[in-house]
Amino acid sequence: MRNGDLGFWQAVQTPPGPAPAPGLEADLEVDTVIVGGGYTGLWTALALAERDPSHRIAILEAEHFGFGASGRNGGWLSAKPVGKRRVLADRFGRDRVVATERLLLEAMRAIPSILEAAGHPIDAHPGGWLQIARTRAELERCEAAVADARSWGLDASRVRILDAKAVRARIGVAGAVGGISSPDNVRIDPMALINGLCALADAANIQRYGDSRVVSISKRAVATARGHRVHARHVVVATEGYSSALPSRSRQLLPLNSAMIATRQLTTDEWEQVGWQGREGIAGSAHTYFYGQRTPDDRIILGGRGKPYRFGSAFDDRGRVDAATVRSLEALTTELFGIHDLRAEFAWCGVLGVARDWTPFIDADPDASIVDVGGYAGQGVTASKVAGEAVAAIIGGDPTGGGLPWVRPRPRRWEPEPLRWIGANGLYRAYSLADAIEARTGRTSVVAKAADLFAGR
Ligand SMILES: Cc1cc2nc3c(=O)[nH]c(=O)nc-3n(C[C@H](O)[C@H](O)[C@H](O)COP(=O)(O)OP(=O)(O)OC[C@H]3O[C@@H](n4cnc5c(N)ncnc54)[C@H](O)[C@@H]3O)c2cc1C
Repeated sequence: MRNGDLGFWQAVQTPPGPAPAPGLEADLEVDTVIVGGGYTGLWTALALAERDPSHRIAILEAEHFGFGASGRNGGWLSAKPVGKRRVLADRFGRDRVVATERLLLEAMRAIPSILEAAGHPIDAHPGGWLQIARTRAELERCEAAVADARSWGLDASRVRILDAKAVRARIGVAGAVGGISSPDNVRIDPMALINGLCALADAANIQRYGDSRVVSISKRAVATARGHRVHARHVVVATEGYSSALPSRSRQLLPLNSAMIATRQLTTDEWEQVGWQGREGIAGSAHTYFYGQRTPDDRIILGGRGKPYRFGSAFDDRGRVDAATVRSLEALTTELFGIHDLRAEFAWCGVLGVARDWTPFIDADPDASIVDVGGYAGQGVTASKVAGEAVAAIIGGDPTGGGLPWVRPRPRRWEPEPLRWIGANGLYRAYSLADAIEARTGRTSVVAKAADLFAGR
C-alpha cells in the first residue's frame, strides 16, 4: 500500500504536468501577492488576470502547487450549498443565499468545460450525487434535508428522495433503506484540476513560486522563510486549512483532518454486483459521514473516519494515515459493498478549514490591502472558483465582491487549547456514539442533537 502524499491522485497523473514552480530567490514587487497554491489561490489569480491582463500577480506556495486539500480531495465538484444557509440569510437575506447557490451551480457546470477547452481535461463525469441512508433515523434526516432544500427553492429536478429499491437499482450498498439523489455533482480528478489551473496561470503570465513558505504577513508585504520580501498593493491569504500556522490566524480556521483510501481495482463480476454504473459521488447519512467516488480505472475511493483533529491545530505528517484509520475505512468499504479483500492500495489524508460558524468568509480591510478567504468546511472544489472571483472583484474596487454573502468579517475565533481539542474530539466521539445508538433504536439520538448544538452546526 502507498501511504501518504497525494495518494491515488499523485499516482495517476500522466506526465508531463505543468512547468515546475521555482522557489522565490529574490525580493519582488507585484500588484497582488497570493499566499497558498491551491484552488483558491489559482482561481483568484486567474480571475484577476482576466479582469486586467496587466495586473502583476505572484502566488507563493510553501510546498508544491496542490500540496493542500486541492491536490488530495475526494473529487466531488458539486453544487451543494456551502456553509450554513441560515447564518448567511440572517445577515444578507434569503435572495443572496439563493443567488450564491446559483453561482455554485454555474461554476460546477463551467469548470470542466474551461479546462477541457484549454486542453487540460480533468476526467469529469457528471453523474450527480447520491446520499445513502442505512437506518430509519438516517432516512428521516434525508427527508428533512430535502424538505429544507424545497424551502430554498430546489425542486425535484435538483434533489429528491429515493426509496430503498431505487437506491439498490443504482448501487448495491448493504442495508440501504433509501436516500437522496441529485444531478448536482461532477466526479473529477482533483490533481488534474490543479495541473490544468497551473498551466492556465502560466499562460496568463502569473508568477508561481513553490517551496516558498510565507512566515509573516503585513499590509502590502509578505516575507518568506528564506528572508525574501514580496511587496504588493494587495495580499490575499488563501491558506485555508493550514492558516492556523500563520501568526495572528491561529484560531481563525480549525484544521479538520479527513482520510481516504483507494481500493484495488474491482473485477467485472464485482462491478456487476455493485452496479454504480452512473458513477455518482456517494455519501453516507450517518453523523460520522463517509463520501466516495468510483474512479475511471474502476477502484472505489472512500473517505471519512480517522483522527479528526490534532492538538494545537497541528497537521498530518505529509498525508500519512495511521493503520487503525486505514483498517476502519477498509472495514467500512467491505461492509458497504459486501466484497471481501477490498484492501487499500492507496491511503492519504489532508486538512480542510472550518470557520467557527461553519460558513466561508472573505474578509478584506477597506483598501483590500489584506484579504483572507476560506472556511469551505470540506466543500471547496467548486466554492473556490466562486470565492476567487469575489476576491478579484474586491481587489478590482467592489468591496461587496459582486454581492457574494461570504464577503463578511471573519467569524469569532475558535476556543483556545485544550478546549478546542476536547471539543473537536469529544464531538467526534459523541457522533460515533449517536450512530451506534441510532443503529439500534432507529431514531435520531439526543446525543447527536446535543452535539449539533454544542458544535454550532
Ligand atoms: C481528504 C479531503 C477530501 C475532500 N473532498 C472534497 C470534495 O470531494 N469536494 C469538495 O468540494 N471539497 C473537498 N475537500 C475540501 C477541498 O479540497 C478544499 O475546500 C479546497 O481544496 C480548498 O482549497 P484552497 O486552495 O482554499 O486550500 P488548499 O488546497 O488547502 O491550499 C492551501 C495551500 O496553502 C499552502 N500554504 C499553507 N501555508 C502556507 C504558507 N505559510 N506560505 C505559503 N503557502 C502556504 C498549502 O501548502 C496549500 O497548498 C476535501 C478536503 C480533504 C482534505
